Amino acid sequence: MQIHENFSLRPYNTFAIDAKARLFNKFSSAEELEEYLMLYSQYPVFVLGGGSNILFTKDYAGVVLKNEIKGIEVQHEDTEHVYVKTGAGENWHQFVLHCINHSWAGIENLSLIPGNVGASPIQNIGAYGVELDNVFWSLEAFHLAERRIHTFTMADCEFGYRDSIFKNSYKDQFAILSVTFQLRKKPIFHVSYGAITEELEKMGVKDLSIKAISQAVINIRSSKLPDPEKIANSGSFFKNPIVSGGKYEELKLKFPGIIAYPSVKGNVKLAAGWMIEQCGWKGYRKGDAGCHAKQALVLVNYGNATGKEIYDLSEEILQSVNEKFGVTLEREVNII
Ligand SMILES: Cc1cc2nc3c(=O)[nH]c(=O)nc-3n(C[C@H](O)[C@H](O)[C@H](O)COP(=O)(O)OP(=O)(O)OC[C@H]3O[C@@H](n4cnc5c(N)ncnc54)[C@H](O)[C@@H]3O)c2cc1C
Repeated sequence: MQIHENFSLRPYNTFAIDAKARLFNKFSSAEELEEYLMLYSQYPVFVLGGGSNILFTKDYAGVVLKNEIKGIEVQHEDTEHVYVKTGAGENWHQFVLHCINHSWAGIENLSLIPGNVGASPIQNIGAYGVELDNVFWSLEAFHLAERRIHTFTMADCEFGYRDSIFKNSYKDQFAILSVTFQLRKKPIFHVSYGAITEELEKMGVKDLSIKAISQAVINIRSSKLPDPEKIANSGSFFKNPIVSGGKYEELKLKFPGIIAYPSVKGNVKLAAGWMIEQCGWKGYRKGDAGCHAKQALVLVNYGNATGKEIYDLSEEILQSVNEKFGVTLEREVNII
């Protein structure tokens, strides 16, 4: 068993932050995970996926265990659905492509989201009108302290907008081992959100298919979002805040251009990127920490920014949005 000490996490987070882990290992089964937990029982544990939704603000004084559990397996089928169990360490986008190749529908709108399958329930990933909980069936997770496997159903996970029980009362308590998805044999197409219809027209698509939708989403995302391989980032840094209908009306009187979408129970979801832009942050750069020139919601590391510098910039942004709009932004990225 190879032990990595004082290990640089720079290649393992899309923000390219050069934080060090006291100890680092990869595991590819529940048994291997348990061995490491026994070996490192005196240290705190952090379970890592693809590192695309985290910001290390300092070195990690415990053990970082990277989940590399693989495998995609059909569990069972009924007339309408196929139930697919997938290892937490599978790459999310490769899994989406695998489903499309097998004509299993439901996650095509979630194409090109970075990261691994195991993290997908953590923040209930979503894009272009679809969220993970639309296709979630169950998951298996290893309780790090009890050292045993639990099964979670949809109700157990308490999914919300970029939220689940794993970001709240069960934060850092479980390593997700596998996720089972309920995918459709006959697709229901979601094309009304964002610029999907426009892109499909541009592509000259006559017969709508999950493959065409996936390609449209890939095209839109590639043109809009900075590629972490080129400029280090973790996608949207903040969530879009949800406010009451009354608060929205108040804001609309003061800021007629405000961008908003209907939410549940009469509430309204505001575009955080627009508010950040109105505060003058778009394209701002201080040292190597910055706010992307095309996507104000995305904070970037131009080279050697520290996690603390990115975090401090996020704090300044948060405060200025609060001062101007009276709305408190919440970070989507996990701060470590
Ligand atoms: C360019 C870009 C675009 C993005 N676009 C979107 C988008 O459209 N929609 C969206 O929802 N997200 C988006 N994201 C955010 C990110 O891709 C997702 O949140 C993704 O699910 C994170 O996966 P990961 O494996 O990289 O998780 P990590 O960053 O490794 O981990 C995130 C959190 O989950 C925990 N975790 C990871 N794996 C496990 C596991 N197996 N068991 C227990 N805990 C675990 C970690 O401890 C950490 O707290 C984007 C990110 C980038 C860089």
